[in-house]
Amino acid sequence: MNLDFTPEEQAFRREVREFLAAELPDDIRERVRLGRRLSADDHLRWQNVLSRRGWLAAGWPCEHGGPGWGPVERHIFDEECAAAHAPTVVPFGVSMVAPVIMKFGSEAQQRHYLPRILANRDWWCQGYSEPGAGSDLASLRTRAVRDGDDYVVSGQKTWTTLGQHANMMFCLVRTDPEARKQAGISFLLIDMASPGISVRPIITLDGAHEVNEVFLDEVRVPVANRIGEEGQGWTCAKFLLTHERTGIAGLGHAKQALRHLKTLAGQIRHRGRPLLELPSFRQRVVRAELELMALEITHLRVLASARGGDAPGAESSLLKVRGSELRQELSELTRRALGPAALPFFPDFLYGDVELEPERAEQAAIGAQYLNRRKLSIYGGSNEIQKSIVAKTLLGM
Ligand SMILES: Cc1cc2nc3c(=O)[nH]c(=O)nc-3n(C[C@H](O)[C@H](O)[C@H](O)COP(=O)(O)OP(=O)(O)OC[C@H]3O[C@@H](n4cnc5c(N)ncnc54)[C@H](O)[C@@H]3O)c2cc1C
Repeated sequence: MNLDFTPEEQAFRREVREFLAAELPDDIRERVRLGRRLSADDHLRWQNVLSRRGWLAAGWPCEHGGPGWGPVERHIFDEECAAAHAPTVVPFGVSMVAPVIMKFGSEAQQRHYLPRILANRDWWCQGYSEPGAGSDLASLRTRAVRDGDDYVVSGQKTWTTLGQHANMMFCLVRTDPEARKQAGISFLLIDMASPGISVRPIITLDGAHEVNEVFLDEVRVPVANRIGEEGQGWTCAKFLLTHERTGIAGLGHAKQALRHLKTLAGQIRHRGRPLLELPSFRQRVVRAELELMALEITHLRVLASARGGDAPGAESSLLKVRGSELRQELSELTRRALGPAALPFFPDFLYGDVELEPERAEQAAIGAQYLNRRKLSIYGGSNEIQKSIVAKTLLGM
């Protein structure tokens, strides 16, 4: 599937491809290809390469030090990165808190945080969800009580992705328990080294340590670390979520997954013929490919309407639902193509240093990726909730 790209856009694609061929370290590329765990150092090494090239903050406008790419360049960049098996840039700094700081932060906050994000100096995590406040996020109970120039923050956050590596957390806290649910929330930036913070791992279905619980016990946070006014946190939170959801669509990854599926289903034989020729299997692959084409067009449309760092709006929910469903369907088809060979689980290979022969390694990766992709329809706001947003906001139902 190919859109018509201009000669300039095609030249840009070549430039990105050459950069990836020259600069993406082979060991990292191979770990991503096989779905093996990346260490914090792997992420940092790759993000430093991008930062030096000025491509870490792909969505940022020039005025803040970004490349100022339009939607098509961003689309091409994402697609080439996924095809080359580059690690996904950890989004919490560059793609999530940065747009909030640009829009709602003071000049001093922008001057302090944005260059650090651009230079890959801070690792951010997201402190939104709590036990009992996921879909109904506005019910969050983590309290922030004003004491002089500080807030004193106590409560519990959960599902904090890669919080074990983070030195900064953006966090939703309740500053006014008397106000209407949404109106009593503020948006704080918290130094993870502050006394009173502890981080505990949650091990997910695929055996990975990707998410955590974060406990805050009377943590002192300077009032200067609040973004926007007290009680304006919900506005910041919603703005940030539209950026998060747009990213989850993962179009480049879906395209890479489709290519992989077609190669695999062309090689695997079913009753003497390639699996891809089996009508019932082929039909599902074709349907997935058509949906991917539709999603690609919609994705470009949404990116185009969100130029200049503006929030993409409720369309991001649409992208999140369709993108995550599609990526789950592709991982399901890939696992089916492999059949029972996808069943064995090799944690020592995926999360340790034990090596496997190449065929076994590919199989292990497919099994683990299938399990890992289950999260896509939950995080960033579950798909059921996103469908309600689409129904209400876009369809007026
Ligand atoms: C892998 C992973 C990583 C995550 N990373 C982070 C992170 O870094 N930071 C962070 O803050 N959060 C993170 N989350 C949390 C995520 O945003 C929440 O899990 C999500 O919003 C759902 O909330 P919940 O888990 O409390 O489920 P619940 O809200 O309890 O929902 C349970 C089920 O009920 C359904 N449901 C609930 N309410 C309704 C309704 N009104 N209508 C229809 N259906 C409904 C939901 O769709 C879901 O299927 C992560 C989650 C996962 C799985």
